[in-house]
Amino acid sequence: MLYKETLRTNKRDEMIDITTNVKSMVKKSGIKNGIVYVYCPHTTAGITINENADPDVKHDMLMRLDEVYPWEHPKYRHAEGNSASHLKTSTVGNSQVIMIDNGELVLGTWQGIYFCEFDGPRIRTYYLKVVNG
Ligand code: ZN
Repeated sequence: MLYKETLRTNKRDEMIDITTNVKSMVKKSGIKNGIVYVYCPHTTAGITINENADPDVKHDMLMRLDEVYPWEHPKYRHAEGNSASHLKTSTVGNSQVIMIDNGELVLGTWQGIYFCEFDGPRIRTYYLKVVNG
């Protein structure tokens, strides 16, 4: 089953917890055992898994990515002016695979799935491919 999801981001850099939506789409698929592939088809947004208990973790991750990849750099060449967004996206990656066991996502207690916006605000999409197995 392939699902296309849409979401609206609100900031230039933002991590949006999509765990609840991924869980509900897996339930909707009816697949009890297998994997769900979460894929982001953008070049300036990605998907990652990290802590969803303390919101300061998101803050610190975004802050450090910004320090490593500043918005402006005298040696950037990309004319669109968003090289930092592309660099951050490749750093976090554009997909995650999560196992499904007995109808539940196999995630650690503190783990959540995040859509990572690095050039918002925009209307964005991501795909969920639920595979039986
Ligand atoms: Zn660009």
